[in-house]
Amino acid sequence: MGDSYEAVVIGGGPAGLTAGIYLMRAGIRTVLLEKQLVGGAAVNAEQIENYPGFPEGISGRDLMGRMAEQARVLGLPIKEFSRAEGVEHLEGGFETAVDKESYRSQGLILAMGSEPVKLNIRGEDLFLGRGISYCATCDGMFFRDLDVAVIGGGDTALSEALTLANIARKVYLVHRRDELRAQQILQDRAARSSTIEFMLGRSPLSVNGGDQVESVTLIDTKTGEESELKVSGVFFYVGSRPDTAFVSGLVETDGAGFVVTDESLATKTPGLFAAGDVRRKSLRQIATAVGDGATAAVTLERYVLGKR
Ligand code: NAP
Repeated sequence: MGDSYEAVVIGGGPAGLTAGIYLMRAGIRTVLLEKQLVGGAAVNAEQIENYPGFPEGISGRDLMGRMAEQARVLGLPIKEFSRAEGVEHLEGGFETAVDKESYRSQGLILAMGSEPVKLNIRGEDLFLGRGISYCATCDGMFFRDLDVAVIGGGDTALSEALTLANIARKVYLVHRRDELRAQQILQDRAARSSTIEFMLGRSPLSVNGGDQVESVTLIDTKTGEESELKVSGVFFYVGSRPDTAFVSGLVETDGAGFVVTDESLATKTPGLFAAGDVRRKSLRQIATAVGDGATAAVTLERYVLGKR
């Protein structure tokens, strides 16, 4: 039998860390499991300007470092490189399997965020790490003074294109429609950048090259005409999906795998809650993830106290 807690939180991004902070302050015995390093996808954001309290902006690394520090100061055990592989619903709670260990708990918060979607086009796997990347903040410096393509028209694509615009010689922003989905403030900044060139109404068909990426083949989404764009790097930002397969029997999900909750962030299984990007919601931001973490923690606290 594994270690026993009142609460297990799966995921160390803003939702999971906030839940951990609230649970520790409420005196709920909690452990947080994180599949990689604590901080979640937000760590990769070069500059965060819409999280209140930081008028000059703050890097994702600094903001998430502060959240993790606050959780640790409160005594929250954070287990990094601990990927939850399965959750069993037992009499009186849950057992979460991580590699050879398991964690028993009365309540469980799913806060594992989401992962980048792959387009599954030719060359996408082959050139991973050889010109293809999903993180401009991590890999951007490899493309100093080179030409790169950014695929996607959402907030992530535009933010990352702006990061790359400070490094690369040219950033081609390739989006399948004529209209971008991203916030207007990001669109305006990109439009003002002399480094970013919009290539709208086009989708990538394949990534090509020898040892490294040399070009991407695009298709005009209206005419079907194909063209080749010479670039040394391709950054894909075509959305994200949560990995919820390991709890599939315990939660209801929408068509894309996002967990359905009620207003108190409860799922269909008593004691099991979801917070942050992993759940079906209308706005995925650090600010809303933090709010979710607080709500899920307070609901879980009431659930556990009701059982004490
Ligand atoms: P997203 O908003 O889902 O955008 C995905 C983009 O990829 C869309 O432009 C979509 O095109 C395109 N796309 C999807 N499938 C495609 C395909 N098969 N071929 C070509 N293009 C495809 O995802 P995201 O930008 O990663 O953002 C995720 C969430 O995080 C959002 O809620 C966003 O607001 C949030 N976020 C916020 C910030 C910020 O506030 N600064 C920064 C990053 C992320 P269509 O537009 O045609 O559907």
